[in-house]
Parts: sequence; C-alpha cells; structure tokens
Amino acid sequence: MNPLHLPLVDAAPNEPPPRAPDHSRTGLIDAHGRTIHDLRLSVTDRCNFRCTYCMKPNERFLPKQSLLSMDEYLQIVNATMALGVTKLRITGGEPTLYPDLDAFIAAVGDLGLRDIAMTTNGWSLDIHRARQWLRDGLGRLTFSLDTLRDDRMAAITLSTTPVQTVLDSVETARAAGFPRPKLNVVMQRDVNDDEAVAFATLARDRDLDVRFIEFMPLDAGRHWQRDAVVSEAETKKVIEAAFELVPTEATHAAETSSNFSFATSSSGSIGFVSPVTRPFCGACNRLRITAEGMVRPCLFANTEWDVRPALRSGEPHAVARFLQDATWAKKAGHGIGDADFVQPDRGMRAIGG
Ligand code: SAM
Ligand code: SF4
Repeated sequence: MNPLHLPLVDAAPNEPPPRAPDHSRTGLIDAHGRTIHDLRLSVTDRCNFRCTYCMKPNERFLPKQSLLSMDEYLQIVNATMALGVTKLRITGGEPTLYPDLDAFIAAVGDLGLRDIAMTTNGWSLDIHRARQWLRDGLGRLTFSLDTLRDDRMAAITLSTTPVQTVLDSVETARAAGFPRPKLNVVMQRDVNDDEAVAFATLARDRDLDVRFIEFMPLDAGRHWQRDAVVSEAETKKVIEAAFELVPTEATHAAETSSNFSFATSSSGSIGFVSPVTRPFCGACNRLRITAEGMVRPCLFANTEWDVRPALRSGEPHAVARFLQDATWAKKAGHGIGDADFVQPDRGMRAIGG
C-alpha cells in the first residue's frame, strides 16, 4: 500500500496511467514518496553501434515519423521543469545522430535548466560543435567505452570504430572546456572483466571519471544471465589490489554511484554503479521518456504510457497531469532478484540509457 493508501493499478500499454491523487499535483511525486528531479530523454532510437548488451544485431529502428518533433521534446522538458525537474540527460540511441541536436541543446539551454548532460558512444566529436554545446548550456558529457582493445571493441559494438576514436573524443570534450569527462564501462564476465585495472590506470593517468556499471537485464537479445554480471565487489577488489582507493562524499542524496579517488594521485576518479548487487531504487529520482514519447517511470517497467495524445491535445495542463499520473505509478523497485522478475521487452537503446 502506498502512503495515501490508494490501490496501485497496473494499466495496460497505451491506456492512460491511473490517476494520481489531486493533492500530489505540485510536482512529480510517486506513490512511494519519491520525488522526480531527473529527466532522461531519448532524442533518437537510432544507433551506429550495436552493442551486444544493449540491442539485437538485426534490430530495426522506428519509422522516423513516429519519433517526437523537437517542439514536442521541448514541451516535455518545459512541463517537467515546471514540476521540479532540475536535471536533463539527453540520450538515445546515439544522441549525436539526432539531426536537430544542436538546436535542441540551444533551446533547452534557453529554458534555463540548471544541469544538462548527454551520454554518447564517442564515435565522433568536433571541437567547434562541442564548444557551441558548452556555450549553449550543455554542462557535462559522458562517454561509453567498454574495452581498450580494438578486437573487443569490434566484438562488443559490432562497429569498426577504433578505441582511439572514442579516447580522442574524450580529449576533444576536455579541450572544448567540459569538466573531467566521465567514461561508462559496462563490465561483463569473460568479455572485459580483465580490464578493470587498465581502466583504473586510464582514469588516473588521463584524469577521467571512470564508472564501472553492472550489466543489467536490458539487452534486447535477452541473453542476460546473473552469472554474466561482474559485481561491484569483484571489480573493486581487483582494482584495490593495484591502487589504494579513498571513498569520496556523495554530491547529492540521489547519487547512484559509490565514488573513490586515488590515495596517491589527485588525478582521476573511479565510481561503481551497481543496480544489480546494490540497487538504489529507494532513492531513485528519475523519469524516462523514449524517443517516440513513451513514458517509463522505471528502466525495468513492463508498462509504459504514450504521452503523444496529451502533447497533441492542445490542453495546456494535459502533459503535466499525464506525467504526474505516470510518475505516481512508478514501481517501488526493479525486482531483478525476484522470482517473478520479467525482463522488459525493450532493450536499453530503445528505452534511452
Ligand atoms: N549511445 C549512447 C552511449 O552508448 O553512450 C547513449 C545511449 S546508451 C543506451 C546509454 C548507456 O547505457 C551506455 O553507457 C551503455 O553502456 C549503457 N547500457 C546499455 N545497455 C546496458 C545494459 N544492458 N546494462 C548496463 N548498461 C547498459
Ligand atoms: Fe548504441 Fe549506446 Fe546501445 Fe551501444 S550502448 S548500442 S552505442 S545505444
């Protein structure tokens, strides 16, 4: 039972979410008492990589006409800001493939959002473009790189992009003026789990913030198995055999990673994002919206709601009300360890990471 003792109804897809109680209409609040401040917005479902842990090799993209327009993405950002969202992460698919990305960043910058970040696979980054993004309000860039070996890069991403290209993009971001770049590394057993120390060394030597992420059951191929997850404890133990790590304070209450600096160097940092072995659902403050406008209160939701009718209704408060209703229905936890856990149909690419 939720704090207001209302039954939670699991709605079928494409039906509107169950209505949140009226007196919750001051922000994005769920039935478990959590407040949303962080919007993850996917601006494209397209990708030029096909990372095996994220999508199927032959997965098809949505027809372009089913994606939201830039104005609609902006309407959503606007509505969530009015409801207390302070942080936007632009994601995808690969967001740099979104044709209106530059205009979109400039427009959300103009809305006055405090914290705008973007995650990219780093396949290409032009310094002039990066500088303009920074001027327009993009504050942080996160790159994804799971290996420092080209043979593995090809096997993981099914692309021909060399590791050095991504590392060059990271340096381009820094040269453009972005703060210490973040590198997401998804650890998978027998795929890249022998590279933890190499990534920690990279973090220290190149002053990067490397985040080791546990492999989640969000691969569209549904090959995820518990055994393939390399736990935070395992990765940390291996790194600590090579480096002395010093825990650093969380910068905010909803911090999902546990973070460390190096005892012998002020350069670089390490973090662990461990949704499988150390779930952070109790502090979750995120809402996700897919490129075609499906609202997903949780990465692992098996129910999602279509915001397009509200967006296109012409009714001024329709989007805000809809998002409040969808937020109210957010699950208490992802339940990955539960016997009745059902992996979502969509992979991470189609959700927006
Ligand atoms: N294409 C961009 C990129 O790769 O950075 C942005 C979208 S991608 C879906 C966002 C993040 O999700 C990436 O850092 C990726 O490694 C992570 N990701 C994808 N599938 C995952 C999975 N099954 N488990 C954990 N992380 C995953
Ligand atoms: Fe594309 Fe990012 Fe998924 Fe890799 S992780 S397939 S780069 S969306």
